[in-house]
Amino acid sequence: MKKMLRIKIAFACSLLSLSLTNTTLFAQDNYLHCGTTEAMKRLFEANPGLEEQYNKDEEIYKQQDKEAAARGYQETNRDVMLTVYTIPVVFHILHQNGTENISDAQVYDAVRVLNNDYRKLNADISQVVPTFTSIAADCEIQFHLAQKDPNGNCTNGIDRIFTPLTNAADDNSKLNQWPRNKYLNIWVVKTIGDPGVAGYAYLPSNQTPAAIDGIIILSTYIGSIGTGNSGTSRALTHEIGHYLNLKHTWGGTNSPGVACGVSDNVSDTPETKGHTTCALSDATCNPPAIENTQNFMEYSYCSNMFTAGQKTRMRSALTSTTSQRSSLWTTTNLAATGISTSSVLCLADFVTNSSSSNILCAGDSLKYTDISWNGNPTSWSWTFPGGTPATSTDSTPTITYNTPGIYNASLTVSNASGSVNATKTGYIRVNPSVAMYNANFYSEGYETGGAIPNADWQVNNIYPGVNTWTQTGMASSTGSKSVMITNTAAQSTYVDELISPSIDMTQITGSNIGMSFKMAYAQRTSANNDQLKVYVSTNCGKNWTLRKALIGAAMASGVAPTTSNFVPSASQWSTQTVTLTQAQFSSSTDLFVKFEFTSNGGNNIYIDDININGATGISELENTLNFAVYPNPANENTVIDFSLTAKQNVTIKVYDVIGREVVDVYKGELNAGQHKYSVAENTKLSGGVYFVNLSVGGQQFSRKLIVK
Ligand SMILES: [Zn+2]
Repeated sequence: MKKMLRIKIAFACSLLSLSLTNTTLFAQDNYLHCGTTEAMKRLFEANPGLEEQYNKDEEIYKQQDKEAAARGYQETNRDVMLTVYTIPVVFHILHQNGTENISDAQVYDAVRVLNNDYRKLNADISQVVPTFTSIAADCEIQFHLAQKDPNGNCTNGIDRIFTPLTNAADDNSKLNQWPRNKYLNIWVVKTIGDPGVAGYAYLPSNQTPAAIDGIIILSTYIGSIGTGNSGTSRALTHEIGHYLNLKHTWGGTNSPGVACGVSDNVSDTPETKGHTTCALSDATCNPPAIENTQNFMEYSYCSNMFTAGQKTRMRSALTSTTSQRSSLWTTTNLAATGISTSSVLCLADFVTNSSSSNILCAGDSLKYTDISWNGNPTSWSWTFPGGTPATSTDSTPTITYNTPGIYNASLTVSNASGSVNATKTGYIRVNPSVAMYNANFYSEGYETGGAIPNADWQVNNIYPGVNTWTQTGMASSTGSKSVMITNTAAQSTYVDELISPSIDMTQITGSNIGMSFKMAYAQRTSANNDQLKVYVSTNCGKNWTLRKALIGAAMASGVAPTTSNFVPSASQWSTQTVTLTQAQFSSSTDLFVKFEFTSNGGNNIYIDDININGATGISELENTLNFAVYPNPANENTVIDFSLTAKQNVTIKVYDVIGREVVDVYKGELNAGQHKYSVAENTKLSGGVYFVNLSVGGQQFSRKLIVK
């Protein structure tokens, strides 16, 4: 449906992709343009008659402005309060759970900024240069997050959509538009397809298709907190200016700084070329008259005002049926969108102050905050299974979790209009602050312990309802089981985590401390870029450090792409290693390991035979071998003792410290079972240090032997 609408018809605004970090932003060297002029041209070429109609409409707006200006924008300046137009707003946050999935608080802050700017309540209005203070306008337009969705259901006006269309966004990213005659739709995205573009809007016109009406804007240009900042927060003010029929002050182009003499058809905005820097005394076009660099419809990044003429033009747009703007603020619509019944609590909700997705170490505390929608609660009733205290009537209780586990949390809020309740299942995860494993090695072959998640292994299915890590008997590197994800095109973009029990690394000896594991994976096509990342955490999983990343063909280790569901043969497993010799890992008394798989719609992945030890690379065989040399230091009775789970070719040799073979103990095939060989009966070793080397099926294992 939207294919034909790919070309933006107007007013895409490039508001810099720089990271702006303070309120006084001046020279912008990396100013980037969008292709509005070219896009307009393409659209006009593709749609005969459109440009003519567009220009006809603009002639009407121009005439209206002249008439209003002749009256001295009388409406604007009169003392009697005009109708303040309230516009219901919905923010559609398109995200893949990254930083673009901005908080509710950041959205609320954006609405606060808008209401300040459109009501001339912005603190920096005091910085307007004297030439323009008399025409800086209170536009008497305000914005309110919707409280009812198009179906009449409760909403906080924030609509979160998990979608890859948050990347390189364009009009095709305008998912779940709410009717434009009832809501201003704002889509918040991670990146925009046009390079250098921070956001774009459509002016109201009879040519703007309803399905693309609204604003797309980068998540970093929303509000002044979180991923936004006060410098970028005014971009939405600018975009809504377009949405309400304002052009850039330098005219209908997206090329500031190029030419004087093009009007925005607002009489009180002085002629200007447009600015990308805060040139407050610039008078290039009509000296000595200075230009309105601080106008919100500039790119100066020191914007702080609209003029009376712009106010009049925006308010005209709101009383025009063009693009249905006139139905937004009606009493009927404010009731339909829930804005006139704001005392009614419609949904209970809460958050915590956790910076780690509510993953805690046993003993940690966190603070809960009520963010229930709409009406203001007057009482709170919380329950915290696993927490101390276990209940609270505070509005912002602080709760301590001492016992590892996964816990729910519940809130009932009430006011005169009634009560609403919410329970969040599995909301809090408390991990042990004391390691579960304290041996000098750790191994896992998924043969024992039952299906995952189990007492040892956690599974974090970030997007529930799709395939995730599971124990399987379909394939294994050794034994009969492994863990896997059934991965298909339908899984694409989903992320699944598999998290180990905690391990005391200080108990592990050896010079090559690390982890090895077996992996089997195939692409479905050579285009698949599925990813496996291995992380470790030294703080109960609150923060993770990346230790290994594999992607696409590199993960497949030579296994050819296959369109059938991949089940590996014995030869299709690769050995992967992860170095953990760094002090912060090898000295951790509580190390967690995480496997994170991000699907690109490829084929299945399997993991088996995880070993953490001081000699990375040794397989699970180490753990069934029970290889020991005793007594040690040696005496005449010292034996080499080991067990085989299957018939194997075995060699046993003794080497001295510089690697010379001193005894050839055994070479040949041995059956499953326990085997013992004497060291002393072969030869008399002189005093010193030796290594007993056991080779089983080509894998090498060594034990140090002291002879006195
Ligand atoms: Zn613009």
